Amino acid sequence: MLFVQKFGGSSVANVERIQNVARRVAKAASAGNQVVVIVSAMGDTTDDLIDLVKKLSDRPPEREYDVLLSTGEIVSAALLATALQAMGHKAVSMTGTQIGIRTDGVYTKAKIVDIDASRIRKELDKGFIVTVAGFQGMDERGDITTLGRGGSDTTAVALAAALKADVCEIFTDVDGVYTADPRIVPAAQKLPAIAYDEMLELATAGARVMQSRSIEFGAKFGVRIHVRSSFHEGEGTMIQSSGAGMEQVLIRGVAHDTEEAKITVTDVPDRPGIAAEIFGALADARISVDVIVQTATENDTNDISFTVGKADLSRALDIVKAATKKIGGGDVAADENIAKVSIVGVAMAQHSGVAATMFRTLAAEKINIQMITTSEIRISVIIDKARVADAARALHTAFGLDKR
Ligand code: ASP
Ligand code: MG
Repeated sequence: MLFVQKFGGSSVANVERIQNVARRVAKAASAGNQVVVIVSAMGDTTDDLIDLVKKLSDRPPEREYDVLLSTGEIVSAALLATALQAMGHKAVSMTGTQIGIRTDGVYTKAKIVDIDASRIRKELDKGFIVTVAGFQGMDERGDITTLGRGGSDTTAVALAAALKADVCEIFTDVDGVYTADPRIVPAAQKLPAIAYDEMLELATAGARVMQSRSIEFGAKFGVRIHVRSSFHEGEGTMIQSSGAGMEQVLIRGVAHDTEEAKITVTDVPDRPGIAAEIFGALADARISVDVIVQTATENDTNDISFTVGKADLSRALDIVKAATKKIGGGDVAADENIAKVSIVGVAMAQHSGVAATMFRTLAAEKINIQMITTSEIRISVIIDKARVADAARALHTAFGLDKR
């Protein structure tokens, strides 16, 4: 079998952990499998590198920023290959450039356009374990790019697709994907399997298991992804096509997100082009907006509320204030004490009454809903941040997800 394995930053944070990873990789190889291992930068290395370069410049040149950040993963790949050789195994490390991961030229969040897997294949056929620096590629000029925070997941899934690996194992510090965050919902259970679409929706709803783009890649190429613990041998969660032996449930999981803030613009004139002005300006600044609600018109004016990531809040406020001034109206206010709670399940698309159950459950808990947004397979509400755990627990129970 051909295994692609990925180990995150905390799994390679120090020498002992790298040796643990090496033992785990070696075990798969010794059983007669071909193994490609993608690694992230050790521990907090990426954050440390960002702090370092920011000491020299508030806005580091993006090309140099990517060259710098790519080094963290290269260190891990070289150390892991060294550890494997020290244990008597044939191993070789590769950078993103060496294995021909070609990306577009958008520094700091490049997209993979093509992978030439021939070099890796050659090494595998010679009996080597290949360790790969995740999170990086090379644009058409041959310059180093990085794939966005958490991008080693995408390297792993993309390589698994290119190599037609039997499975892509994502080793992490959690046991798998849960029906909710066990830290706030004690009755949460580990899921044996989850559909790509459900995992994607959970990821956008705040469940931080894998980089979203890696799941899109997995769905597109049908890569079987196994999320499992790097600390023990237990089975984790398979991310796969829906159906195929998966338990039929209405709701697969409940997610929450406390990293968003709400901006409300009151008394904006009710005429065409207003929303375009505000949201166009935000889009130009590459700030993504999540939930949007516009109230009914009163005295020829509207209120518009929407959420943005907390990290973008101060920039967003400046932009919205400028835009509102231009369109002649409105007060702008921010609220950081909000949270988003979502329920996700592919079966929702074929069933009615799911939203009603959700709203009734929250009403019974006296939790006020400030905003609502839905997709085919997800319903999200914005509520008071202080009630987020209550909401998640109540919904988890109401949809029959509690561990017995
Ligand atoms: N080291 C990078 C980061 O911290 C990429 C990754 O961990 O996947 O975002
Ligand atoms: Mg990381």
